[in-house]
Amino acid sequence: MYFSIVKELCVVSDPTESDHEVPADEKPPEASEWYSAGLRFHCTQCGNCCTGTPGYVWLSTQEMIEIAEFLSISTGELRLMHTKVAQGKLSLADHANGDCVFLDGATRKCRIYPVRPAQCRTWPFWEKTIETPEAWQATCEVCPGAGKGELVPLEIIRESARQSRL
Ligand code: SF4
Repeated sequence: MYFSIVKELCVVSDPTESDHEVPADEKPPEASEWYSAGLRFHCTQCGNCCTGTPGYVWLSTQEMIEIAEFLSISTGELRLMHTKVAQGKLSLADHANGDCVFLDGATRKCRIYPVRPAQCRTWPFWEKTIETPEAWQATCEVCPGAGKGELVPLEIIRESARQSRL
């Protein structure tokens, strides 16, 4: 799903379609974010972000439906066997060692990767992880893929941060 977002936002218009200059007063304002030149990220699939201190991966109703369909189980079974309630909301459950309930213990890969929740899809570009250069540096220290690999453009980072709020 992450890559489908990349694809949608990376569609480049044909420069031969229009040779008109955009009037200065119609140009979008200059980006003000400190990461306006983009940030590097390439997931090494180490699994670090799916384990550690127990936490919460919030689930929307639509995400519940998609995960249940992917696993060929009912949403009731998903809810009963693989989620927990916290702060009045549903979260993916985790094991006592902090592993996400869907982290494969042998391969250390996500068992629901194609339908993983937005919170997972948008990592490491969350509002708080990109808020300041220092916050991003801290993210790079816990995620071996952050700060390395392909340059992710501003538009993708913005969209990820926006989706991570939903
Ligand atoms: S910690 Fe970073 S590199 Fe490792 S699996 Fe998570 S996103 Fe990928």
